[in-house]
Amino acid sequence: SNALMAGKRGLIMGLANDKSIAWGIARSLADAGAELAFSYQGEALKRRVDPLAAQLGSQIVLPCDVGDEDSLDALFAALAETWGELDFVVHAIGFSDKNELRGRYVDTSRGNFSLTMDISVYSFTAVMQRAEKMMGEGGSALTLTYYGAEQVMPHYNVMGVAKAALEASVKYMAEDLGKDGIRVNAISAGPIKTLAASGIGDFRYIMKWNEFNSPLRRNVTTDDVGKSALYLLSDLSSGVTGETLHVDSGYHIVGMKAVDAPDI
Ligand code: NAD
Repeated sequence: SNALMAGKRGLIMGLANDKSIAWGIARSLADAGAELAFSYQGEALKRRVDPLAAQLGSQIVLPCDVGDEDSLDALFAALAETWGELDFVVHAIGFSDKNELRGRYVDTSRGNFSLTMDISVYSFTAVMQRAEKMMGEGGSALTLTYYGAEQVMPHYNVMGVAKAALEASVKYMAEDLGKDGIRVNAISAGPIKTLAASGIGDFRYIMKWNEFNSPLRRNVTTDDVGKSALYLLSDLSSGVTGETLHVDSGYHIVGMKAVDAPDI
């Protein structure tokens, strides 16, 4: 086949349901001919992830809590056994106590700061330590971030600080792994209504604000993110690493929006 991802094998981490950004990415990769494996957190999610994986022709669905080193080891041992080599990995995982995704950042607790950094930042590094060993012929890795890393957004709080660290970790890993032909990039997605996003205070208002103030005057979909992910995970982006690509209807370039009415 001459499909873009024919013969490529990749791991998708962070699929919770059909609203997940990971689902938009998985669909676009499968459409392009990629062979996929999925990891999920906790038995409760297995019931949701199994049928979605099957829909894309994947039988490889494995548990992994990225906060646990043994769980990560078990995931990559199982993958190494079935596949041997890995071409790409998608890290679509983040977590923070939703009680601290409202109110003031300055009130963040030490415990939730550590937990947020561990699950949302360090986990990508922990994944790459293991994925690297299976990418003998090079590879491409992708994580998900948000504009709250760069500028202050209401209620994003400790998650914004974590995403800033995640974006920095993308650059450090791009340098470390570049000599082995492994590329590491991020997509900074505009707001999308997912399970994780529902924990953020006033999320509906943030969606409306982005819809009205972004150059494209609409919110992005998981399809939009999936198409850009296909670019970053395929050979089309062979010269790109350490990059954060904004898939946000252009919101990040707006300093002040012009009034649409012509007579003001
Ligand atoms: P989602 O709820 O569908 O996905 C989040 C995933 O993280 C879930 O599958 C959950 O099981 C997983 N997860 C949490 N803790 C875990 C752990 N300890 N081990 C393994 N998995 C764990 O929501 P989403 O919006 O698709 O989130 C995916 C990524 O996209 C996150 O990093 C999020 O911060 C980022 N992002 C989301 C938006 C948005 O508006 N939805 C915007 C920009 C970036």
